[in-house]
Amino acid sequence: MEAWRRQLDAPVSAFPVAKAGPAHIATLKTYDPPLSALDGRRFAGVDRRAKRMLFPTEDDELVLLVHLMSAGRLKYLEAGKDGPKSPALRIQFEGGSQLVLTEAGAKKRAGVWLLTPEQADAELEHLGPEAYGLGAERLAEICAEESRRLHSLLRDQRVIAGIGRAWANEILHRGQLSPYALTKELRDDEVKRLAEAIDAELARGLELREGGANDKRTYRVHRKLAEPCYVCGTPIAQVDFEEHTIYYCPTCQTGGRILKDRRLSKLLR
Ligand SMILES: [Zn+2]
Repeated sequence: MEAWRRQLDAPVSAFPVAKAGPAHIATLKTYDPPLSALDGRRFAGVDRRAKRMLFPTEDDELVLLVHLMSAGRLKYLEAGKDGPKSPALRIQFEGGSQLVLTEAGAKKRAGVWLLTPEQADAELEHLGPEAYGLGAERLAEICAEESRRLHSLLRDQRVIAGIGRAWANEILHRGQLSPYALTKELRDDEVKRLAEAIDAELARGLELREGGANDKRTYRVHRKLAEPCYVCGTPIAQVDFEEHTIYYCPTCQTGGRILKDRRLSKLLR
């Protein structure tokens, strides 16, 4: 996400908007002001909060907020380049370049909001602190607040912003922690390991993404079922948990234990 933000920052502010829209009906979440209110204005650049990209206008009157969810992609196309026929959102700039939002798959989950700066602040209020640079001290406070399983805690944007399910897998593996470990039961050294793993993995991801790496090259544990763990060689295992599939190394993370599918055991009870 941060790699995309850096890529988009300069180009989207190079020219004023010539024509904002159309947007897919399932993607555009606000109607007033209409997208056309952006026409003629220039973006000041791109900000990011977790998986949300924010495009404030230079005159400080409007903010275009794009939530990519898991399959949304923002692409900047130079003048003369052909874009997708019907993207989820198209913004054309003077001079002919364009910004397009596309979403793989039939389900439209990504969202676009055109807001005033005050509305944008309200929208972002419920987000927790950014994951990167959180630090062991702050993380220890967060862990002490409620008893939760680590994989679930890391993905909860209200608690810590910026970690999705894939990076939760990578981070827990690096920290040698079980996805099912409970926040309140972590020792100090484990909290410290987790804080270090968050920074190390997010920095690693950013570097790879900026170099153009795809998912397959970026992830070492996520979606690597049965492939050898990059640390110890044990085949990576998977387990379903809540709405997600967790990937983990039984040797590095769970002391050899195989995690049980908690959704299934709930049904059988
Ligand atoms: Zn391992």
